[in-house]
Amino acid sequence: KLYNEVQELKGNIRVYCRIRPFLPGENRKSNTINYIGEDGELVLVNPSKPGKDGQKMFKFNKVYGPAASQEEVFLDTQPLIRSVLDGYNVCIFAYGQTGSGKTYTMTGPDSPTEEEWGVNYRALNDLFHISRTRRDTFMYEVGVQMVEIYNEQVRDLLSNDGSVKKLGIVNTSKPNGLAVPDASMRPVQSTSDVMNLMQTGLTNRAMSATALNERSSRSHRFLFMISYMKMNCQMISQCCLYVFCYSIVTVHVRGVDLKTGATLRGSLHLVDLAGSERVDRSEVTGDRLKEAQHINKSLSALGDVIFALSQKSPHVPYRNSKLTQVLQSSLGGHAKTLMFVQINPDAGSYSETLSTLKFAERVS
Ligand code: ADP
Ligand code: MG
Repeated sequence: KLYNEVQELKGNIRVYCRIRPFLPGENRKSNTINYIGEDGELVLVNPSKPGKDGQKMFKFNKVYGPAASQEEVFLDTQPLIRSVLDGYNVCIFAYGQTGSGKTYTMTGPDSPTEEEWGVNYRALNDLFHISRTRRDTFMYEVGVQMVEIYNEQVRDLLSNDGSVKKLGIVNTSKPNGLAVPDASMRPVQSTSDVMNLMQTGLTNRAMSATALNERSSRSHRFLFMISYMKMNCQMISQCCLYVFCYSIVTVHVRGVDLKTGATLRGSLHLVDLAGSERVDRSEVTGDRLKEAQHINKSLSALGDVIFALSQKSPHVPYRNSKLTQVLQSSLGGHAKTLMFVQINPDAGSYSETLSTLKFAERVS
C-alpha cells in the first residue's frame, strides 16, 4: 500500500459537516447552531422554540466550525484522495442548500487566494505533486473529459468542434471502465492544464446554458471528467475528474505494476451538487421547474443510493438517475464515499438546515 488512511472509519461512508461563517452583513445573533463538539457533535436550535425542547443533537464523523480553514478541511480528506493510488474508488461530494458553502468547500470562493482554494484544486495539486516526486519511477499521462448532465441528459463539453453532443452511459462490469466512453478526452500534465480545460468546458456550458435559457446561477449541473492518468514503470494509472453541477470532481486511477504486470484501478470523484432546497419553495415554472425537478430527482436518487449503501442493502438503486449511473463506479463496492454536509448557521435557514441534517443523519 502506498498510503493508508490515518483514521479508521466505520463502513465506507463518512460524513463531515461544515458550518460556514456568517458573511459580512449577516446578523451573527441569528444563529441556529449552538454547540460544536470535538467528536463530531453539533446542536441545532429551533429559533421558535427556545430552551431544551427546541434543541436537537446530531453526530457525524467530523464537524467543522465556522473558523475551520480550507487547509484543515483538506488535510482530513487527503488520505482518502491518496487512497485512489492504492486502487480505491473514492467519491467526495458536498450537499446542502444554496448558499451553505458547497462550492466554497469543493472549489473555493470566486477569485480565491491560495489559502482559499477548495478540495478540487488541492486534490489535483496533490496528485500532480505525487506524480512529480515519483518521476524517476513513474510516468503519468493524464487526460480530461468534461460533460454536463442537464435534464437527465449527459453532454460532452470538450468536443473539438464545440458542439455539445449528447452521450450515452455505459454500465461497465469493470469497476473502473469509463462510464461515458464517448466524451472527448484531452491530455493534461499539470493542475493549471486542468484549470484551463475547465474554463473551456465552462465556456461551452455557458453557451449551452444560454441556448437553454438559463436564468439562475442556481441551476448548477456540470459534470467534468478528468480522465485517465497513466503511470508507467511500476504503475499505469487512469484518472478521471468529474465536476458536476457547479463542480463535481472525480478522479479515476488505473495502475499497472510493470514488474509484475498487475493492474490497479482507482477513482476519485469530487462533486459540488446543486442546492438541495425543495422545489416548492422556489417559485419556478416551465423549463426552470423541469430543471429543478431533474435536480431534485438526481439528489434524491443519490440519497437513496447512499442510504442503501449505508444499510449494506443487497439492492442499490443506481439506475434511477443519470447522476448515480455516472458515479456508480465510485459509490459502493470497493468505493469510499465522503459527504460534506454544508450548513448555513442563520436561524432563517433553520428548516432547510434541519432537513439537510436529517438527510445526512440517515446515511451516517
Ligand atoms: P453554495 O455553493 O452552497 O450555494 P457558496 O459556496 O457559494 O454556497 O457559499 C455562499 C457564500 O458563502 C459565498 O460567498 C462563499 O464565499 C461564502 N462562504 C461559504 N463558506 C465559507 C467559509 N467556510 N468561509 C468563508 N466564506 C464562505
Ligand atoms: Mg455552489
